[in-house]
Amino acid sequence: MTILFKRETLVKQIQENSEWDVIVIGGGATGLGVALDATTRGYKTLLLEQVDFAKGTSSKSTKLLHGGVRYLAQGNIDLVKEALYERGLLLKNASHLVSNQSFIIPNYSWWDNLFYAVGLKVYDILAGKLSFGKSTRINKKETTSRLKTIKNEHLKGGTVYHDGQFDDSRLAINIAQTCIEYGAVILNHFKVKQLLKNNNGVVNGVVANDSETNMSYNLKAKVIINATGIFTDEILQMDNVGAKNIVRPSQGIHLVLDKSFLPGNDAIMIPKTDDGRVLFLVPWHNRVIVGTTDTLLNSYSLEPRALNEEVNFIISTANKYLNKKVCKADVLSIYAGLRPLAATKDNSEKTKEISRSHKIIVSNSELITITGGKWTTFRRMAEDTINKAISIGKLPNVSCKTKILQIHGSKESLHNAHHLNIYGSDQDSIQKLIIETPELGEKLHSRLPYRKAEIIWAIRNEMARTVDDILARRVRALFLDAKAAIEIAPLVTSILAKELGKDKLWQQQQIKEFTTIANHYVL
Ligand SMILES: Cc1cc2nc3c(=O)[nH]c(=O)nc-3n(C[C@H](O)[C@H](O)[C@H](O)COP(=O)(O)OP(=O)(O)OC[C@H]3O[C@@H](n4cnc5c(N)ncnc54)[C@H](O)[C@@H]3O)c2cc1C
Repeated sequence: MTILFKRETLVKQIQENSEWDVIVIGGGATGLGVALDATTRGYKTLLLEQVDFAKGTSSKSTKLLHGGVRYLAQGNIDLVKEALYERGLLLKNASHLVSNQSFIIPNYSWWDNLFYAVGLKVYDILAGKLSFGKSTRINKKETTSRLKTIKNEHLKGGTVYHDGQFDDSRLAINIAQTCIEYGAVILNHFKVKQLLKNNNGVVNGVVANDSETNMSYNLKAKVIINATGIFTDEILQMDNVGAKNIVRPSQGIHLVLDKSFLPGNDAIMIPKTDDGRVLFLVPWHNRVIVGTTDTLLNSYSLEPRALNEEVNFIISTANKYLNKKVCKADVLSIYAGLRPLAATKDNSEKTKEISRSHKIIVSNSELITITGGKWTTFRRMAEDTINKAISIGKLPNVSCKTKILQIHGSKESLHNAHHLNIYGSDQDSIQKLIIETPELGEKLHSRLPYRKAEIIWAIRNEMARTVDDILARRVRALFLDAKAAIEIAPLVTSILAKELGKDKLWQQQQIKEFTTIANHYVL
C-alpha cells in the first residue's frame, strides 16, 4: 500500500499536528478544490469528509465541463466566460480525465437552425484561445448520419458545438491525491460534529469523528471553511443555532442507457424541452447518460431518489427525439443529485431565477462558507475562497498556484480506447499488478469492463474504504449497470476485507449497506 495514501498515516498526522492553517469541511468538488488551492499556496491544510470524496452531488453530475449554453441564452455572459476558461484549464491540468465532446443540436425549424448557429458562435468567441473547436451548421443528411437514432421527420439540420466531458468522482479522487502529494491531510469517513470558538466567538477549530474507530478529535485551525454543498445550513447552524437556511436543494436525475440508443461519438443537446429545460444525451464509458431535471425539494440526503414524474419526463422527452424507443426496462442505472441553490427569500419555486454562480459568505464568527457554482468552476471557486480568507486577514498573502497545476494521473491519453486510460499515469502500475498476479486481470462482471486489479488499486492507492466507495466512485459500476454492481458486491467485499483485515460480520454488513444503496439505482 502506498504509504502516502494510507489511512493510518493520515490519521497519525492529525494526532501529531496541534494547529492547521486551513480546515475544510466537505470533500466534494468545492472542498477538494479549496484544499488543493490552500495546500499548493503552502498553507497547512486538512480536509474532512463525512463519508467519501464526491459521495454527494459531485459524483452525480451530467459529467460536463461546460460554459452552459443555457446560461448564454439567459444572457449570463460573465458566468459562461468564466466556465469556458476553467474548462480550458482543466483539459490541460487533468488531460487523462477530460475529453473534447461534440454535441449536436437537432433543429426542426429553419429559425432554430439559424438561432443556435448564431448563439454558438458567441459561445466560440467567449472561449477565446481555450476553444474546444468551432461550432458549425450541418445539413439533415449529415445530422442523421452522425446521429443514427435521431428522428428525421421534419428535421432541418443540426448545429454542432464542442464542450468538455469528464468523470466527476475520478477527478475528485485524483484531486484528493494531488492535495496529499502537496502535503495536505485529506480524510474520508471523518465527520465534523461541532465547531470550536475562542473567547471572542471566533471559530478556531472543529470536533470531528473518525467513523471507523469512533474516535473523536478536537482540531484547531486559523481558518475553517464550510464546503458542504446541500449540508451548508447544518454547519451554519452549528455556528449559530438561529441561522436562516441559505440553501435550497434542487434535484436533477439521470438515466443511463445502453450505447445502442446513441451509437456514434456525438452527444445530443435538446435546448428546450416542453417545460423549457435542457436535456442532454451524452456518451459516457460506453453507455449513454440522459438528463436532467430541476425539481425543488424541501429535504435532502446523500442518496436522493428520483421521482416517478422525473423518470417519465426524461423517457418521454427522449422518445420524442429518438427512433429507438426507450422503456423503463432499458434503464441500466438511475441516479439523482442535488444542486445547492441559494434559497430565495420567499422560498418560491422559480429555480430558473436562482443564481447558479458561487457565493462566499463570512459569518460573524469568521467561518467562511462557499456554496453554489458548478464542477467546471471548482478551481476558480477555491481561488476566490482562499483569497477571501487572505483579504480578511486570516492567512498571509500568497498567490494562487492552481491555474497551471497537473492533477494526479495527468497524462495525454487516447480517450475511450481502453477503459484503463482513465487512470492516466497510474495505468502502468495497474497493468503491473496484473502482470505480477495474472488472476487480477480477471473481469469482475461480463457486462462491465472492470478488472480485479482496479479494486486492489482503489484500496491501496485511492483511499477506498467501503464497497460503495469502490463500486460507485473508484470504478463507476453502480452508475453503468446497477444490477451488475449488486451482483459483484460479494466478490468486491471479500477482496476489500482481505486487504483491510476485516471479519465476516463486517463483510455481511458491507454487502447489506451497498445493496440498500444500489437498489435505488435500479428502476
Ligand atoms: C443533476 C446535476 C447535474 C450537474 N451537472 C453538472 C455538470 O455537468 N457540470 C458541472 O460543472 N456541474 C454540474 N453540476 C453541479 C456540480 O455537480 C456541483 O456544483 C458540485 O458537485 C457541488 O460540489 P460540492 O462540493 O459543493 O457539494 P457536494 O459534492 O455535495 O459535497 C459536499 C460534501 O460535504 C460533505 N459533508 C457534509 N456535511 C459534512 C460534515 N459535517 N463533515 C464532513 N463532511 C461533510 C458531504 O458528505 C459531501 O460529500 C450538476 C449538479 C447536479 C445536481
